[in-house]
Amino acid sequence: AVRVRFAPSPTGFLHLGGLRTALYNYIFAKKHQGRFILRLEDTDQTRLVPGAADNIEDMLEWAGISPDESPRQGGPAGPYQQSQRLQLYAQAAEALLKTGAAYRCFCSPQRLELLKKEALRNRQTPRYDNRCRDLSQGQVAQKLAKDPTPAIRFRLEEEAPAFQDLVYGWTRHEVASVEGDPVILKSDGFPTYHLACVVDDHHMGISHVLRGSEWLVSTSKHLLLYRALGWQPPRFAHLPLLLNKDGSKLSKRQGDIFLEHFAAVGFLPEALLDIITNCGSGFAENQMGRTLPELIAQFDLSRVTCHSALLELEKLPEFNRLHLRRLVSDETHRRQLVGKLQALVEEAFGSQLQNRHVLEPAYVERIILLRQGHICRLQELVSPTYSYLWTRPAVGRAQLGAISEKVDTIAKRVLGLLERSGTSLTQDVLSGELKKLSEGLEGTKYSNVMKLLRVALSGRPQGPPVAEMMMSLGPEEVRERIQSVLS
Ligand code: GLU
Repeated sequence: AVRVRFAPSPTGFLHLGGLRTALYNYIFAKKHQGRFILRLEDTDQTRLVPGAADNIEDMLEWAGISPDESPRQGGPAGPYQQSQRLQLYAQAAEALLKTGAAYRCFCSPQRLELLKKEALRNRQTPRYDNRCRDLSQGQVAQKLAKDPTPAIRFRLEEEAPAFQDLVYGWTRHEVASVEGDPVILKSDGFPTYHLACVVDDHHMGISHVLRGSEWLVSTSKHLLLYRALGWQPPRFAHLPLLLNKDGSKLSKRQGDIFLEHFAAVGFLPEALLDIITNCGSGFAENQMGRTLPELIAQFDLSRVTCHSALLELEKLPEFNRLHLRRLVSDETHRRQLVGKLQALVEEAFGSQLQNRHVLEPAYVERIILLRQGHICRLQELVSPTYSYLWTRPAVGRAQLGAISEKVDTIAKRVLGLLERSGTSLTQDVLSGELKKLSEGLEGTKYSNVMKLLRVALSGRPQGPPVAEMMMSLGPEEVRERIQSVLS
């Protein structure tokens, strides 16, 4: 059975790169009727960020790719936080000590620091010199008396096994000569990444490891651990990095690659999932507008290539517009959007709403239907451009007088038009009727009449067509606004 995991460290909030790794895991699991597991790799207690663990689960849920097993969700292979699995790592380390695949290291932090400094001075990669590898049993016993909880290191074999990565193909990295034997269990009882990852992937029954390509070089080390522990390794598929369009790293410091930010400013999770799969690979073709079920149906791991995925974030608004329109066309989703917009209006204008009927679902829905093609995000509908939809503008007589001297005549004509047509106006008919309003008005052109009405209705010289404005506001509200500009 397919079991995959997303294993972030809660050292930061979920960002686009993490979302992409999680998404590919999710899609792969669903494609193969498998399970998608969230495991928090929180063994480096010094780097934990408060709230990050919650943020990661919240955001996966928001994105619609909730894990089947997770710290919150629980599951048969838990606990799903490494800090609660210390015993399993200790057991594995113990087993490795027994067979001689691991050894205790008594080197002091000072000595290790010295080694590092010396290497750096010689412009070499710092490397542990494996000093404690060959201590005799007597020496170990002696040192244990003084230092009962030493670190444990894994004895790296010279020959790292080659493996067939499902994306990168046959791969082998020389590990032994580079860094020296790695610590797998620290003296405080916490494991390091390599041991924890291998132990958990094994005990959690992970079948495929889909993770960022930055971990490709660690895999040889992991395979040596699997071999030493006598375990069958999972398959590996390393995913190419997600980069900016110009090939630079997606910066977490920009602050705007965090999911929380996208959610807060009103981007739809559907649009984010679409854009991060569109720039990469794994699909027969790139095409905008795919939904999650379509992503699952069309994904093919063998189509993932090792080229970096270049993200064109400036296209996100277009992706959002597309998904917004799709959701509007579906009744259930439309109802949810109405609820969202109601909340946004309440939040933006709450105390200024003279007319609470603007919060009625029928009114809010009408606004969404009329404006959907012109906005990328629902949030735009509460920006100053659209505040006239929710509150009455303050319009000065002088402001209107500057556009045309015939304010009263025009206003009366509009009132007459409303009177005649009752409530049955369509936007097309209305547009036709508005064209006639300027007939016989000396010195006032059609465009002036429209500008005047637009200012009278919205307080702003720019905005949607007047006929649409009138359709949105409804005849009753239009009448009141027009009446209020009469002298
Ligand atoms: N904890 C690692 C990370 O933060 C996970 C690497 C892996 O998936 O093995 O990316």
